[in-house]
Amino acid sequence: MGLIRLIYASRASESFQAKDISSILEVAQETNRDLDITGILYFGNGYFIQCLEGQPEAVEALYERISTDLRHENVVVLDKIEIQERSFEEWRMGFVSQTDVNEALFEKYMQENIFDPFSLFNNKANEFLLELKSVVNSNYYVG
Ligand code: FAD
Repeated sequence: MGLIRLIYASRASESFQAKDISSILEVAQETNRDLDITGILYFGNGYFIQCLEGQPEAVEALYERISTDLRHENVVVLDKIEIQERSFEEWRMGFVSQTDVNEALFEKYMQENIFDPFSLFNNKANEFLLELKSVVNSNYYVG
């Protein structure tokens, strides 16, 4: 098998603080390079959505590790599929925050004008994340 993408949603736990994002991204930059994983992470309204792309074993191992992280809970896989090519090949982990996104995008994908990844319309998780590509604001590029 070639590459897969895995998209999950989760809710920030009580112990999570906004400043944790930068340490998560710093670790992700290094680990994801070692594992040849690329992707995107969005945080808003107390929720995360993240896409991990790479070799199946690497993606699954990283997802296992992330899913036990106490900084979030209710971790649910929204999409896991074989892919021909990466969508986020530029970023070890591109990061987008709430303030970068026009709320019209939430209405388009979630009915409400507030972010809730658990109410994403059927199979729309990947499309939603692709729309965020233009506003990625982290410096964690592939390098
Ligand atoms: P260590 O840093 O040795 O920690 C051991 C365990 O403790 C970790 O598995 C984690 O579950 C937990 N932990 C670590 N720090 C804290 C803390 N401050 N508070 C509470 N629990 C903690 N890592 C990546 O490598 N790539 C990613 O793309 C990535 N994305 C993430 C996205 C989200 C939403 C979250 C919450 C975490 C993400 N992480 C990512 C971090 C990942 O969960 C691990 O903490 C990290 O990979 C280091 O793994 P480790 O086994 O060396 O853990």
